[in-house]
Amino acid sequence: MKSYMVAVAAMALAIGGAQAQSNYPERPVTMIVPFAAGGPTDVVARIVGEHMSRTLGQQIVIENVAGAGGTTGITRGAQANADGYTIMMGHMGTHGAAPALYPNLKYDPTKDFAPVGLAAGTPILVVSKNAIPAKTLKEFMDYAKANASKLNEAHAGVGSVSHTTCTLFNEQLGIKPNRVAYRGTGPALNDLVAGQVDYACDQIVNLVPQIKAGTIKAFAIATAQRNPALPDVPTTIEAGMPDYQVSAWNAIFAPKGTPEAIVTKLNDALSKALDDENTRKRLLELGADIPDAKGRTPRALQQLVDSEVGRWTPVLKAAGVTAN
Ligand code: ASP
Repeated sequence: MKSYMVAVAAMALAIGGAQAQSNYPERPVTMIVPFAAGGPTDVVARIVGEHMSRTLGQQIVIENVAGAGGTTGITRGAQANADGYTIMMGHMGTHGAAPALYPNLKYDPTKDFAPVGLAAGTPILVVSKNAIPAKTLKEFMDYAKANASKLNEAHAGVGSVSHTTCTLFNEQLGIKPNRVAYRGTGPALNDLVAGQVDYACDQIVNLVPQIKAGTIKAFAIATAQRNPALPDVPTTIEAGMPDYQVSAWNAIFAPKGTPEAIVTKLNDALSKALDDENTRKRLLELGADIPDAKGRTPRALQQLVDSEVGRWTPVLKAAGVTAN
C-alpha cells in the first residue's frame, strides 16, 4: 500500500476511535465483581453502579465471577477488550495481597489496569457466631487460643481481604484454626449467622446489618477510631489488641489500554455517585469511608495499588501463606 493510503486508513481508524469514545457508552457496561453476590464487593458495586448508570445513560450490569480469592474475575477483566464495556470492582485483596500469594498470578495489579477510582474505604471487624461464649475481644482471644484446633474461620479465598486480614489476626494470636474458603463473604456470613462457622474478619459493609440485628457478635474494629455506623463496637486499641490495625477498600479498574477519554467518563460518573446524597447515605449507613475528591482520581488509585502491593508482599511472605 502506498504510504499516503496507510496514513488515510490510520486517520479513518483514529476518527472512528475518537467517535466511539465520545459516544461512549452506547450499550450496557459490565462490571465484574470477583466474589459472590451479597458480599461487600458486590454491595459497593451495586450501590455506586446504580448511580453511575444514571450519569452514563447506560446500565452498569454486575457480573459475579467468583473464585481464587477474587483473582479469577480480575484475570478475566484484565484480559477483556479495553473499550470501556468491561470494568471491574477490585479490592485490597485482588490488587494488594494477591501477588504475594499467587506466584502464577496472570496479572500485575500495578501494571495491567487503567485505574478508574476508589469507591469506598472499608474498615475491618473481627466477628463471631453468637454461640461463641466470649463477650469481649480479650475473652475471644483467650477462647481462640484455648480452642484453636476446633475453630473454623470463614474467608473468601486465599488472598481475599478476609483471608489476608485474618491471617494477620491469627498470627498475632499465634493460632492455627481451620480456614474455610467461600466464594465471597456474603455466603460466609450466611454460614456465620447459621452457626456453621465460628468467626471471620471482614469488611464493615457486609457486617453492619447483622451486627445491629444481633445475629452475630462484633468484638472490635481494627481502626484507630470507632465507626459512626457501629458506635458501640470498640476499636482494637480499646479492646486490647492495639497492633491489629488493618483496613481494606474497593475500587474500580478498567483493563490496561482503555482510552483516557473513557476512563475520565467513568471516573466522573463514579465521582458524581460519591457526591450524591442518597448514595452517600447508603454507604455511610454501612460504615464505609467515602473518598474525598483527591482520593478518587485514577492517579490516587494507582498510588494506592503501588503502596498496597509494597505493603502486603513482605507481610504475607513472612507469614508463609501461598495459594499454589
Ligand atoms: N470481602 C470479601 C473478601 O474477603 C469478598 C467479598 O466481597 O465477598 O475479600
